Amino acid sequence: MSAVAADHRDPLDDYAASIAGCTRCRLAQGRTQVVFGAGNPHADLLFVGEAPGFHEDKQGVPFVGQAGKLLAGLLEGVGLGREDVYIANVLKCRPPGNRDPQADEIESCEPHLFRQIELIEPRVIATLGNFATKLLSGRPDGITRVHGREQQLTIAGRSVLLYPLYHPAAALYTPAMLKVLESDFARLPGLLGREPQPVAVAEPEPEPARASSAEPAPAEQLGLF
Ligand code: URA
Repeated sequence: MSAVAADHRDPLDDYAASIAGCTRCRLAQGRTQVVFGAGNPHADLLFVGEAPGFHEDKQGVPFVGQAGKLLAGLLEGVGLGREDVYIANVLKCRPPGNRDPQADEIESCEPHLFRQIELIEPRVIATLGNFATKLLSGRPDGITRVHGREQQLTIAGRSVLLYPLYHPAAALYTPAMLKVLESDFARLPGLLGREPQPVAVAEPEPEPARASSAEPAPAEQLGLF
């Protein structure tokens, strides 16, 4: 690449390139590739899911399987496309057999997510499911309790509106949950139009904390709900 082309690269692309060979955790051994994220690198709205699955690992793009199709449909329902938002995951590499992320894997990978947040500078972060919600809220409250309840937080040094949502994979086969997800999604345009508010909630611990560090819980107790 020429010096000029390198100058015009988005810093997010540079960061993605810099972690393409990441070996911070055991997941490096089984992955096809790091699934960094996709979408508008300056999006106001960032979605954070759990971890790449089979298709994401093969294609290198988050949310391209069944849950991704549902996410795209939900976005379309509120007048947004994938190219309008940024989509990332807590873990950048696929856990074997799509098992739950383990606490040490989340700890190893979270600097990548926090750097993404710093570079994208979203105004709203919609967390999809328990893992992303607990990590970014710094609280142990489960998604069933907190979905659809926005809160202004300081994350990666920026004031952002955190908006927890059910994970689309959980809603795929549960019509009642899909209804809730649709109605929570319907509030997104309004939240995006909202002026940034003063920070009302204490910042998570200095090292942007995972909920599990506030209240340690074995990984197997954490599920999509
Ligand atoms: N589920 C996730 O949490 N992330 C993906 O990228 C795909 C499915």
